[in-house]
Order: sequence, then structure tokens, then C-alpha cells
Amino acid sequence: MISIKQFYLNELRECCYILWDQTKECVIVDPGISSKSEENRIIKFITENNLTPVKLLLTHGHFDHVMGCAFICNKYQIPIYIHPKDKMMLSHAKQTCQMFGYNIDEPPTNTIDINDGDFVDFGNSKLEVINTPGHTWGSVCFYSKEDKFCLTGDTMFAGNCGRTDLPEGDNSSMYNSLINIIPKKLAPDTDIYAGHGTNSTMAEELANNPYLNPKIWI
Ligand SMILES: [Zn+2]
Repeated sequence: MISIKQFYLNELRECCYILWDQTKECVIVDPGISSKSEENRIIKFITENNLTPVKLLLTHGHFDHVMGCAFICNKYQIPIYIHPKDKMMLSHAKQTCQMFGYNIDEPPTNTIDINDGDFVDFGNSKLEVINTPGHTWGSVCFYSKEDKFCLTGDTMFAGNCGRTDLPEGDNSSMYNSLINIIPKKLAPDTDIYAGHGTNSTMAEELANNPYLNPKIWI
């Protein structure tokens, strides 16, 4: 059984997640850590719960999701898992952060590729990787069928979807991800944990999220 802790980090209120199971091994997803106090919040939680970080997972390469990669990798000596199509963005993260007024250390470049259909494991648990391009080409969701939840990154938010107007965005891919991939893969009783905003369920999204309705895209 996977437990989930959510943190809102940096000025964009990006959602970082720590997932762990009974073995106390954990993965850290999207560490958008932007300050010493945010570093301390994450470390405190890991220490107080006796967790052992084993992997750093990224839903995509945008700067607000990756700002704390160098810190986490140095602190816990763990590798970064990212879709190959977003690796370039990660390698530009320091530059991009500077444009937004954040001074970060360069994220490590020796990352591990994750592709659609892969499983990422930790402890006795595993997460399925679903490639959902649109917000970025290498955007992925992390899905646990057993524990009925999905981390949707900036692909799907409660009642909304991620931007597609940035250079690495693509509207027709987003349509395909939201109309053909996500609703077919995720059962209605799946809990949704997004990259920004509040949590939801797939049933709520099917009922309320206008972007899951093909008609809005015409
Ligand atoms: Zn993003």
C-alpha cells in the first residue's frame, strides 16, 4: 500500500510528492524546491518518517518541477528518472531558473530514461509510466492500478489541463492524451494528484473537466 504526502513548493505552488510503502523506501516526485526552508520541510518529513529515498521521478522537465533536483540528488545520492524527450529541458533548467529569479545548482545529467509502459519500482510497489504529451513532449503520468491513484503532472489538473502554448507544447497531442489516453487507462475511482492545484478523482474529472469532452476541442 502506497502512502502519499503532498507539498506545495515555490511561487508557482508546484506539487511535489513523496510516495512510500511499508518498506519505508520512498520516491520523490517533482521536487520544485526553491529555498532553504523548503529544503528543510522535505528533509524533516523524510527523517521524521524514517524514509529512505531511492529514486527521483519527474513528470516533465519544466523549471518549477525540477528546481530541487540537484539538492535532492546530492543529499540522497539517488538517480533522476525522466522521459527522454524532456531531458533537454532539464539540462537548461539552471538558465531558465535564472530568468525567473531563482539561483539553482545544475541538475545532474546522468538521468535514467522512462518510457510509456515502463514500471518504476520502490519497496514492494510499482508505478506505471504513461506518456501523455501535450504540455511537453515528454510529459508522463505515474499510475498505481493497485492503489488506485495517478500523478498527472501538468497534463491534467482538477477541472483544467496544462498549457499547450509554450514552445514544447502541442494542442493536438494534448487532445489525444486527454480524450484517448487518460480516460481509457484510468478507472473512475482513481484518485488524481496533479502538478498544481487541488486533488480530485477521475469520476469528478469525467463529470466536470471540460477538456475531457471532445466537443470543447472542435
Ligand atoms: Zn509544466
